[in-house]
Amino acid sequence: MNAIQSLPDPQFSSVYGPVKSWRFGSSLGIDLIGMVSTCSFNCVYCQLGKIQKHISQRQIFVPTEQIFRDLQAITSWEDVDAVTLSGSGEPTLALNLAEILAAVKTVTKRPTIVLTNSTLLGDGTVRSALKLADIVAVKLDAISSNQLQRVNQPVATIDLPDILAGIEQFRQEYQGFLTIQTMVLSPWKPDILRDYIQLLQHIKPDEIQLNTPSRPRVLVRQLDARGNNVTESSSYVCQNLRCVSPKVLTALAKQIYEVTKIPVRCPPRALLQLGTSN
Ligand code: SF4
Repeated sequence: MNAIQSLPDPQFSSVYGPVKSWRFGSSLGIDLIGMVSTCSFNCVYCQLGKIQKHISQRQIFVPTEQIFRDLQAITSWEDVDAVTLSGSGEPTLALNLAEILAAVKTVTKRPTIVLTNSTLLGDGTVRSALKLADIVAVKLDAISSNQLQRVNQPVATIDLPDILAGIEQFRQEYQGFLTIQTMVLSPWKPDILRDYIQLLQHIKPDEIQLNTPSRPRVLVRQLDARGNNVTESSSYVCQNLRCVSPKVLTALAKQIYEVTKIPVRCPPRALLQLGTSN
């Protein structure tokens, strides 16, 4: 097992929030990554800003015992609907993911959600760990290698066919609720929509979530940015991102639902929940 990335920072708590999420209600965040933002992607819209450690090697970032301790320090669970593993980067990079999911389940008794960028789903150990989660939301922003490079900027060893094969394999093995999350930065041309729909028909997720950047992106790493705390009025240096209007997002969601009959959600929560009953 690799060494811990850095000594624990006394300012750092692995637990944050709860954060209001249009997707998952009031969600307590668990940060498996720590002070240095770390991911196998460097998405142009990432709310963490430019990723500080761009890697695909798994390691232990935050010891499981620390997460256990931080969770036990919480005195009220009243406002927590779910617990989400995400935070300061890609949670499947954490070698102790399975251990942490087990600890979170024991302590919180709440549904567990993991948000992943899908890049490590080809790894059987990662898939096994993710099976412990009640909901897994996998990112799929790109349907061409060009788009992957442009939007997600992966580390050099990652390419689209491997990502798609990993998602497909995970879908076959996972009994929980699988969501595909797609960030829409500009209106889609008909051929992109057609290819996306074909992919989704093949993967057969339980739900599709379409989103568009709604908050400014910090340019310099701020621990605050792992929740939804950065707004136009924040004092951080930020960049406004390209996005599409709710009308464009809704129209896209309708088109996808009409063909696939897979429930589609897009923000705000009340705007559209095609095919969902809750
Ligand atoms: S996958 Fe998530 S954490 Fe990684 S760069 Fe993209 S948005 Fe940021």
